[in-house]
Amino acid sequence: MATIFYPDTCITCGRNLVEHEYILCTFCLVDLPKTDFCSHPLNSLEKKLAGRVPIQAATSLLYFRKKGKVQKLIHALKYQNRQDVGAFFGRIMGQNIKDSKRFQQLDGIVMVPLHPKKQRKRGYNQLSYYAKELSQKLNIPVYEDVLIKVASSMSQTTKDRFRRFEKMNERFHLENDILLKKKHVLLIDDVFTTGATIEACSNELFKTPGIKLSIATMVYTEDT
Ligand SMILES: [Zn+2]
Repeated sequence: MATIFYPDTCITCGRNLVEHEYILCTFCLVDLPKTDFCSHPLNSLEKKLAGRVPIQAATSLLYFRKKGKVQKLIHALKYQNRQDVGAFFGRIMGQNIKDSKRFQQLDGIVMVPLHPKKQRKRGYNQLSYYAKELSQKLNIPVYEDVLIKVASSMSQTTKDRFRRFEKMNERFHLENDILLKKKHVLLIDDVFTTGATIEACSNELFKTPGIKLSIATMVYTEDT
């Protein structure tokens, strides 16, 4: 496999990185707005999902703030092919989950899927390195292709009536409900904002008999 070389400057401040630093300089690293969701039940994320998705536990690594360091990290990951950022998030999240008593007996990981068209355009799925690192740290598999993203479908009448206001709602489809039967699945995504995506995915996943669900997103957006 070809080795990818990433720039040796800090993503967020541009300072030259020294030995043992990667992605971020030490100053920026310690300055990241970390949540302590992993060890805290009823954290803000879980409160947002309460009454919508019956999850075991949910966590995010960092708070997302506009124009902040975390936005730069997510931008680099999503639009500049900096997949090492995903791996970085995965390693820290994996350790946090391992250390937490709230995420017990996870069986495997499911990524919130990208629409195939979008993935082709981007050339990669920004969650794949995050998933890979989590999988290694937690010693559980990534379940691929169990959940797929589909375009929204409306009845023809509704479509005609609302054509002008047509908005693509996120829809997902469960491809394999045998694999996940009675499994405790960690559903992962990059940014948690309203929870609509997580909710839509969870509704599909819960069609599996006996499934249990926990959530781990890279970042969490507070109400603005
Ligand atoms: Zn820096």
